[in-house]
Amino acid sequence: MRNQRIQGIGMTSQRTRERLIARLKEEGIRDLSVLNAIRETPRHLFVDEALASRAYEDSSLPISHGQTISQPYIVARMTEALLEGGPLQRVLEVGTGSGYQAAVLARLVRHVFTLERIEALLSQAQERFRELGLRNIRTKYRDGGMGMPECAPFDGIMVTAAPEGIPLALVRQLEIGGRMVLPVGDRDMQVLVRVTRTEEGYEKEMLERVVFVPLLGGVA
Ligand code: SAH
Repeated sequence: MRNQRIQGIGMTSQRTRERLIARLKEEGIRDLSVLNAIRETPRHLFVDEALASRAYEDSSLPISHGQTISQPYIVARMTEALLEGGPLQRVLEVGTGSGYQAAVLARLVRHVFTLERIEALLSQAQERFRELGLRNIRTKYRDGGMGMPECAPFDGIMVTAAPEGIPLALVRQLEIGGRMVLPVGDRDMQVLVRVTRTEEGYEKEMLERVVFVPLLGGVA
């Protein structure tokens, strides 16, 4: 029963998932470890049952509390951009949402830490991690703009909600050489940016235009 739920049937079956992988390749995702992590992560368990049949379309979907689960292409692109410089051990995610991005990361890095400001979303995500047996994800209910100094430094940080500028509190929690991938900008115009921490400060590269929900202050 449990396995069947995870494996999916019909529109959530392995065949449907393979079509998504083929599409991500067409869109330019090259990293096979990232494609595999997406192949192995049952996205249909991260959306409402009513939307499960659309889980393997390459589109963002609504989750509760006015939030969204990112489009698979964006999850793949951000993960690929984070891992490009080599394997990572400790990655912080800001904006757990459904938990999907954290679940994908958990298959690729040793430890994942993820922060969410809406408690109900976080507890749903925790339940999914348990069901999938993902034991290398630590969660915390908090305003993620402050990061997680008690577990820093991280060699990777991924922010999945958009701040208007690069949050320096997060840059400071990166190791020298560590990387952060995040959308930056206001509601209508955001760019995916990769920040690399240096001895003196940081370097930044612009990757592509994206649309994310805003990074908000405080907890809900
Ligand atoms: N990574 C998520 C996508 C989440 S959408 C997924 O895979 O489903 C962005 C999430 O960021 C929302 O759940 C929102 O509540 C959360 N968020 C926004 N501002 C935040 C903040 N300051 N701290 C923590 N989480 C935040």
